Amino acid sequence: MPSPLEIQVRAALDGVKDPNSGKGLAASGRVSGLVARADGKVGFVIETGVGAADEPLRKAAEVAVARVRGVTTVTAVLTAEATTGARSVPAAAPASLSPKPAPQLAPTTPVGQGPVRPARGIVAVASAKGGVGKSTVTVNLAVAAARSGLRVGLLDADVFGPSLPTMLGTVGQRPDVKNKRMQPVMAHGLVTMSIGYLVDPDQAVVWRGPMVMSAVNQLINDTDWGDLDLLFIDTPPGTGEVQLTLVQRLPLDGVVIVSTPQEVALADVRRGVGMFRKTNVPVLGIIENMAWFEQQDGSRAYIFGQGGAERTAAEQKVPFLGALPILPVLREGGDTGIPAATGDSSAAEAFRLLADAVNEALAAGPSKPAPKIIFE
Ligand code: ADP
Repeated sequence: MPSPLEIQVRAALDGVKDPNSGKGLAASGRVSGLVARADGKVGFVIETGVGAADEPLRKAAEVAVARVRGVTTVTAVLTAEATTGARSVPAAAPASLSPKPAPQLAPTTPVGQGPVRPARGIVAVASAKGGVGKSTVTVNLAVAAARSGLRVGLLDADVFGPSLPTMLGTVGQRPDVKNKRMQPVMAHGLVTMSIGYLVDPDQAVVWRGPMVMSAVNQLINDTDWGDLDLLFIDTPPGTGEVQLTLVQRLPLDGVVIVSTPQEVALADVRRGVGMFRKTNVPVLGIIENMAWFEQQDGSRAYIFGQGGAERTAAEQKVPFLGALPILPVLREGGDTGIPAATGDSSAAEAFRLLADAVNEALAAGPSKPAPKIIFE
């Protein structure tokens, strides 16, 4: 049952004519992921045709909704829709990475071509598979870097499963809008932005590559990041078209790959390294997560195999940044929204070393391998 505010917002959207169908914007079916919170913060997605220049429509929709009584902020995100209805599963990496027509983006300033560069260093955290701890590592790396005195931003571009709000304890927060720019949500000393703050996370799973890119572009361009030293980007898992587009279109200074030691994960890591190389994104290094589990007698159980990521890093000639064991404190931190790196556990110390290693690899450039960190 929609709330009275949502009903009013939809009515306001219908006051804006969809140039394609001639219908009201809500009636046209192009609005999805509408969230109208009791505190007056409203967000929604407008699906836009490939090649469409719908920025004026987005602006008109925002203005119309902003006039609704009780609405305090409005955030509309344009997504360049490719095909409706199909659930997007990251595809296998394309056989050839030769240039193909770039997906049509919503007409925001394309990142990498305009003045937008939110941080001195922009680092993507990627994984070839889901569930290997990529988001956990991203959040804790970012917290550790912030604790070392850097101004750090964290962008959740994992639109298929934005988990950062849960891991940061910011679920349900909506960014304020000032001077037409989204104000990031501050959490644990980080400047954060997530697609999860803007739309119902269930909506995003049906997006396809161009829609993802368009949304990510807006998250970067329309956010008031301030003056950051480092921006970490949590990317969707996989080495498919979505990831390829992201790394091609964002001004990345490097990528950190997270993997478990399992052979099946490592095969994908090799493919991932190949993809980043072909797109000229320096691989800053590989982090092996869930490397072992410490048993009650202090011995280590190598549940997913031993040393696989380090061997793969050597074989691929990319730095091995370090190994993290399975640590209950990391899972608990993810579930409670208080990242382990904020505390003083051995996990926090490991992330401090890993963040230093990432920073050094970034400063050294792609040619010089970063120092290897071994978890004690
Ligand atoms: P991904 O982003 O790769 O999908 P997540 O970061 O969401 O993976 O992690 C998946 C689950 O594993 C989460 O519940 C997380 O808390 C847990 N996890 C990740 N790394 C570790 C670790 N080293 N020790 C214990 N639990 C972990």
